[in-house]
Amino acid sequence: MIFIPIAAAAVVLAIVLVTRAISLKPMETIYEAPDIIYMNNAEATAYKLKAAINCRTISYSNYERFDFHEFIIFRDRLRDMFPLVHEKLELEIVNEYSLLYKWKGTDENLSPGLFMAHIDVVPVEEGTEGDWKHPPFSGISAEGFVWGRGAMDIKVQLITLLESCEKLLEEGFSPKRTIYFAFGHDEETDGSNGAKKIVEKFEAEGVCFEFVMDEGGCVNKGIFASVDKPLAFIGVAEKGYLNIRVDIKGTGGHASTPPRNSSLGLAAKAICRLEKDKMKLRMTAPAEQMIKALGRQMGFKSRLIIANFWLFKKLFLKIFTSSGTTGEALLRTTIAPTMARGSMEPNVLPQTSSFTVNCRILQGETCEDVIRHIEKACRGMEYEIHVLRHEAPSTVSPSDSFFFKKAAGAVAGLYGDAAVIPYLMVAGTDSIKFQGLCKNIIKFSPYMINMDDMKRIHGTDERISIENIGRCVAYYMALFREL
Ligand SMILES: [Zn+2]
Repeated sequence: MIFIPIAAAAVVLAIVLVTRAISLKPMETIYEAPDIIYMNNAEATAYKLKAAINCRTISYSNYERFDFHEFIIFRDRLRDMFPLVHEKLELEIVNEYSLLYKWKGTDENLSPGLFMAHIDVVPVEEGTEGDWKHPPFSGISAEGFVWGRGAMDIKVQLITLLESCEKLLEEGFSPKRTIYFAFGHDEETDGSNGAKKIVEKFEAEGVCFEFVMDEGGCVNKGIFASVDKPLAFIGVAEKGYLNIRVDIKGTGGHASTPPRNSSLGLAAKAICRLEKDKMKLRMTAPAEQMIKALGRQMGFKSRLIIANFWLFKKLFLKIFTSSGTTGEALLRTTIAPTMARGSMEPNVLPQTSSFTVNCRILQGETCEDVIRHIEKACRGMEYEIHVLRHEAPSTVSPSDSFFFKKAAGAVAGLYGDAAVIPYLMVAGTDSIKFQGLCKNIIKFSPYMINMDDMKRIHGTDERISIENIGRCVAYYMALFREL
């Protein structure tokens, strides 16, 4: 009677699966919420954000294209808008345009903390200026929002950090531990002139940090149909960054007598192969932590699959990656072709055609792994691979550290029932450069936005609500008191 053991095994399996799913139920928040005091003058802070947005502090990959005069105006405006900050804190200008403030703490035995933002913004794509509801550098306040490039990314953070400090200084408050504010001026390109120089300065002085808090996740509502609660995505890791140029050799000459395989055709073939045969889907520790935390907020069916990942791995990966590109980006190293070049004239065959790929590397994989994958796509071709820029994947910051708990506690104070989701960022931030100086790097902004607003970041009609400006100030004021 072979059926009895099989049936028994099936029952045991079902019990195991269901028990695991039940154990993944939503947990009550364990974070201690501080008192959150709302200022009633968020409009006044909105006006300061307007003044910041008015400055065209635009980042270009060609450093010579920067309009540095705008960065000087920006700095001068901060001085006018935050008089106490500039009276009581030490300000150091790093590499001419980045700003580093030091707010001295009362207890010198505590290691300092660092809050970050960046001064620069991405350009408005040429030809889209007219699509904006309000001009992109106007900073106009309308319909309950401040509109303009940098509103969400990330002048709101810079302005509300300083506003919170200014308000606390008005009360005569001093923080327990020393707090730094570091505002780089070229984060949107690669941070090599801003954040990197600030890191070098701290390295030379031997300063290490208890925590670093930078931009990254925020509070989202309505991104999953089955989850009502706001979800606070607190970044604890980010993927690596890699730009590679591939040169494919071919036969040059007159375009009237083309060869069977031109170098441009071969380059196209290599790109098609890369898009068809992607790097492997992998569940890394930070992605798993994030997915489990999300799963806790979802219905029983989702929990059944997520809690039993060991059995439903294939099904899970299929569901998770079929819903969009973000799921994919979380679970594999991505290789995106972004630039290509053939010859300079329409009737000249290129001797060499080139394409550039922008890759985001998962924890546990390396630049060499990506190169091997690209080499496979170039099989049968004569090629050269050039690494243009490489930043290894970040380490993973713990989600049970003193600072993580404080940051999550202030979220609980601000949003009540929000679920905290430690998460893996698929994009990069300046904070990765601080890894050698700090083990607790958190990437989070306390404002709450929906899917519609997410699309505006780096896009058209970027804006931030006045309500969110008030929230950010309340959040940072509460946090500074707790540190
Ligand atoms: Zn940013």
